[in-house]
Amino acid sequence: METILFLAHTEPDGSLGKAALEAFSAAQAVHASSPGSTFAAGLIGASVQAAASQIASGGAAKFLGVAGEDFNQARYASDAAAVEALCRAAQASVVIAPGTSRFARCLAGVAQRIGGLVDTHITGIGVQQGSLTANRWYYRQRMEGVFQRTARPWFLLVDPGSQAAWQGAAGTAAVEMIAVLLPEAARRTTVSGYHSSAANAQTIRPDAPLLLVAGAGWTKKQADGQTHTPEAGTLILNFLNRTRASLGSSKSLVDQSGEGQAVLPFLSHLNQIGQTGATPRHQKGLSTCCHGEEPHTVGWRFINERRAISLDPNCGWARGKADVLYVADAFAVMAKVNELLA
Ligand SMILES: Cc1cc2nc3c(=O)[nH]c(=O)nc-3n(C[C@H](O)[C@H](O)[C@H](O)COP(=O)(O)OP(=O)(O)OC[C@H]3O[C@@H](n4cnc5c(N)ncnc54)[C@H](O)[C@@H]3O)c2cc1C
Repeated sequence: METILFLAHTEPDGSLGKAALEAFSAAQAVHASSPGSTFAAGLIGASVQAAASQIASGGAAKFLGVAGEDFNQARYASDAAAVEALCRAAQASVVIAPGTSRFARCLAGVAQRIGGLVDTHITGIGVQQGSLTANRWYYRQRMEGVFQRTARPWFLLVDPGSQAAWQGAAGTAAVEMIAVLLPEAARRTTVSGYHSSAANAQTIRPDAPLLLVAGAGWTKKQADGQTHTPEAGTLILNFLNRTRASLGSSKSLVDQSGEGQAVLPFLSHLNQIGQTGATPRHQKGLSTCCHGEEPHTVGWRFINERRAISLDPNCGWARGKADVLYVADAFAVMAKVNELLA
């Protein structure tokens, strides 16, 4: 019988973030489908009471916490010590945690310390014939594998965005605090602050329902023999401002900056979707001025509804990659769409 430990760190305000609530849903579902399993929550942060209360009605039989100023910041040494203590206290055989950068940094080390194994980028956890299974994508999201492990404890880092976030009512939870005495060496690293791009330069929004993808066509010569890159930039930014959509790009477009061509200044390689780019998760996607070639559309694997605007009726989108293809001038279409949105 599995002893399931849901593991989470708090956000700066003491609450559990969306990624943690998604992992909590997954852990809860595993517990529900594993008769005889036990289910505990292990929480780390400056203070963990608010986080425990947030998930109090979620079915965990026990709440364990490691708290204090030393555990407020993301730091390998203190996080690893806290997680190790929680796993040992819970005697966990399965540890389900959100795949945040904080946990991605330390859970492999903890698994090694306590003789377990870790798997990252998990997109599904299930129980088949009484055995725990995990899903993960391979070969740049082209193939999905379902696998089991006999090794325990088994650490599973759940990819944010892959599960529905738990939405139960808050309640009151009694947290059993675990004391972790950190040696001075575990306190050497301090987080001195965060550097974020300006709010209006932040075009990547993982939680947006819609992804807008810009292709190289936006910077190509148009019917009048001229390029219209500044107009393209304005159309795209106006659309993003009005819809709060996330912005993706084709490789050809982001590569142009490296080749000294006219570019859209708000795009970087981080926006690139595809085989050598990102595979974001959004309900809908709209591709503009992009050919929809295979290495690009690999990145659309987790976009549920796909539409494209291209001048080329024979492009990859027309060959089965899009649900709807508008064979049209994206400058004209997006100008009209922005007008309607305004
Ligand atoms: C190993 C490998 C890995 C790769 N990985 C990736 C990857 O991760 N991501 C990626 O994107 N690509 C990747 N590629 C490149 C990919 O194959 C394509 O070359 C690239 O995606 C093409 O970008 P594009 O469609 O923006 O540009 P283009 O192929 O130049 O297409 C531009 C399109 O814009 C259209 N257009 C022009 N003007 C307008 C207008 N006014 N209105 C509407 N449409 C217009 C044109 O008709 C054309 O279809 C990879 C390639 C290889 C070999």
